Amino acid sequence: MLFNSKKKLQRAVKLLHLKIPREYFVIKSTKKSWRLVCRRVEQGCRFRLTSFNDKHTNMWKVGRYIKEHTCDMGTCRDAHFNLDVEMIANVLHVDIEKTSRFPIKDCQTTVLKAYDISISRRKAYLGRKRAFEKVYGTWEGSFAELPRFIEALKHFNLGTIVEWKTERRVDVIEDVFNYMFWTFKPCIDGFVFCRLVISIDGTHVYGEYDIKLLIAIATAQYYLCHLQ
Ligand SMILES: [Zn+2]
Repeated sequence: MLFNSKKKLQRAVKLLHLKIPREYFVIKSTKKSWRLVCRRVEQGCRFRLTSFNDKHTNMWKVGRYIKEHTCDMGTCRDAHFNLDVEMIANVLHVDIEKTSRFPIKDCQTTVLKAYDISISRRKAYLGRKRAFEKVYGTWEGSFAELPRFIEALKHFNLGTIVEWKTERRVDVIEDVFNYMFWTFKPCIDGFVFCRLVISIDGTHVYGEYDIKLLIAIATAQYYLCHLQ
């Protein structure tokens, strides 16, 4: 058996073991080789897999391979050892693309449907976090993009004013980023024509209604109170 990358080989072995279901343990993993044994080797299971990278073709070859597991996992479909965060993220990817606030309970259901294996809330949380990073990038990556984005915003919208809100903390040497505010020039110019607003507030609505509820209370002519 040949695979054009170690990642593809690992994925194939993982999928097979989730399907059967049996668990394996990695005893060696380098740039040149990947070796596995059964996780229940103490039961006398002889499953073995040795694979290596062929330096001439750069392909991954399966060498010594005893594919039959003689161990017994029972009918247990909970917490498969080889169902890692990456595999969970792969199936949650589509749902996270549709909504970044995909509930943990739904993550667990999606994984159960895909692999027929139950996962803990913690594993579902970590899988969702990883899927989120795959779709939207990491928090650190997004923050690193921010200065460039803001400069472009200012360049193409002359008169834009930006304020960074940071915080000093005793345990951190550098300032910690909290918020960023910006306003465009037309908003600044138009502000003088706005009616007086007493209060604007918004809240996230959870559950069935996946929206943000914005409430504005303002006084207008004749001192009427408007609630929107
Ligand atoms: Zn086994």
